[in-house]
Amino acid sequence: MDCVDCVFCQIVARSATAEMLYENETAIAILDTRPIHFGHALVIPKDHCRTFLDLPAGSMAGLMETTTRVCRALVSSLQLEGFNIFCNNGEVAGQSVFHFHWHITPRYTNDNIRFELKLKQYSDGQMARYAQRIREHIPSTE
Ligand SMILES: [Zn+2]
Repeated sequence: MDCVDCVFCQIVARSATAEMLYENETAIAILDTRPIHFGHALVIPKDHCRTFLDLPAGSMAGLMETTTRVCRALVSSLQLEGFNIFCNNGEVAGQSVFHFHWHITPRYTNDNIRFELKLKQYSDGQMARYAQRIREHIPSTE
């Protein structure tokens, strides 16, 4: 995507507005305009990249620093009882802005927020076969 058309790139460049929470050299954190719960924040790398797999090398420390600061601030300012951190990668996974970001969502007892999941059951030996198939695609660090 051309960055001119990317709303998150526009926010990073300050040509579009957002409710900014925090910024460092690598990332920004803003409030989501369509929150799951009030205080729902987004952590966004400043460099345009589409998914988790496209994150620039070396960006993780700055992203995590931003995330930790914002989580701590959310917990203390809004008296959170818990929070979720998640990211959607690809349209099939629910990604709607194709500039990578992850979500931090406030959670409270009885907040009536449910991630509806129908959990599957592995058949005999199936879990081991899945694990083996995945391990074969993890490159050795040596
Ligand atoms: Zn972008």
